[in-house]
Amino acid sequence: MPANDSERVLIAGAGPVGLFAAIRLTGFGIPVTVVERNTNVGDDIRASTFHPPSLEMMEPYGITEQMVAAGEVVPEWQIRMHVTGEKVLFDLGRIADLTPYPFRLQFEQSSLCILLDRMLREEPLAEVIYGTELIGAEQDGGGVTVQARSGSEERTFIGKFLIAADGGASTVRGLLDIPFDGSMYPERTVLVTTPFPFADHIEGLSGVSYCWHETGNFALLKLPSRWRASLYFPESLSVDEVLSDDYLQEQLLEICPNSDRFEILDKREYRVHQRIVPGYNHGRILLAGDAAHLNSPTGGMGLNGGLHDAHNLTEKLNDIWHGGDLGLLDLYSRQRHPVAKNQIIEQADQNRKRMTEKSLEKRREHFAALQAIAADDDKCRAFLRRSSMIEGLELASRIT
Ligand SMILES: Cc1cc2nc3c(=O)[nH]c(=O)nc-3n(C[C@H](O)[C@H](O)[C@H](O)COP(=O)(O)OP(=O)(O)OC[C@H]3O[C@@H](n4cnc5c(N)ncnc54)[C@H](O)[C@@H]3O)c2cc1C
Repeated sequence: MPANDSERVLIAGAGPVGLFAAIRLTGFGIPVTVVERNTNVGDDIRASTFHPPSLEMMEPYGITEQMVAAGEVVPEWQIRMHVTGEKVLFDLGRIADLTPYPFRLQFEQSSLCILLDRMLREEPLAEVIYGTELIGAEQDGGGVTVQARSGSEERTFIGKFLIAADGGASTVRGLLDIPFDGSMYPERTVLVTTPFPFADHIEGLSGVSYCWHETGNFALLKLPSRWRASLYFPESLSVDEVLSDDYLQEQLLEICPNSDRFEILDKREYRVHQRIVPGYNHGRILLAGDAAHLNSPTGGMGLNGGLHDAHNLTEKLNDIWHGGDLGLLDLYSRQRHPVAKNQIIEQADQNRKRMTEKSLEKRREHFAALQAIAADDDKCRAFLRRSSMIEGLELASRIT
């Protein structure tokens, strides 16, 4: 397919959001070109939780079926007092009337990208070009022109629209000078994966467990052949200190006594931001996923929110492609922006605040409030609808 055939949608970034947008658009019969700076599909450890609506959105393409077959189905997640073993359980079976997928699916973001990339390789309407960095983007009334660099070669791509799915440090957002207001959280997070079977050693642990321990908090998430621990560290420690093997062994030992050293498969440190752009639509250039919004990962909503952006935006682009009004792009922003701001960022912030609470008394209060929610069917269903991102999508669908 020639790169200068302008009857296409250009996508910056082959992360999960860009690739899912490409799957959706080609499914509608719309050609796409994805340019990705990395030389291959991303394999770093990042998100791992998929909520029911995301699974519903990916179902028509056979993606969900493959993810469920290879992933870890978690029907019940929990918040626990690690020292005493007390826990509050949130059973998604209580909203089984609202979704065919009443569980959280634990599946690596990188595995999803590999799956989507493989599907697009078979798709004649798609080209995904790795090792190619977008460095310029311009638009006029009829379309967009993207400048990209592949090694020492500069290339030009022409399309009708550009989806900026180029992540938290979005080049497109920078080129358009779009503000990305918000803040960075003070703590560092370290993700560690290990084959150590935590559930065999910690009574009643769920596949998604958010835990308070004496001095801080951590999360344990189950993946098919390993566990992933999110550990939080104060700002005072350097990256080298928090990533040192001895220090990580100490932290994991605090979570679970183990006579051997923990086998650490992967580790990475990252900082968390909460930020959002003022609007997602900029003429024929549309922001989606982390390029548009960032949130604390507590609750696993960042990636899911990005997939929901891609789903919404591609529906609008399909309508426009077949004669619909360009004003639909404004509707995309009006529907998705408040969900990111008032549901995803706000909830993730509340989750983070609750889990980073150090006062035992306040933790007890949070715990009691959560117990009261779990004990009341109506309150629990409302809580699950919100935390599973169903409520946000319902609110968005009512915006016209
Ligand atoms: C360590 C970590 C842990 C996380 N854990 C969770 C979690 O548990 N749950 C959750 O929901 N979310 C989590 N997130 C957030 C989640 O990973 C993101 O929300 C998700 O990756 C967003 O997808 P995206 O496609 O928008 O952006 P990205 O995944 O960042 O993809 C953007 C792509 O664009 C490419 N790119 C960038 N600039 C250019 C350019 N100029 N030209 C071409 N290509 C470019 C990048 O190389 C990248 O491949 C985590 C994030 C991190 C960093």
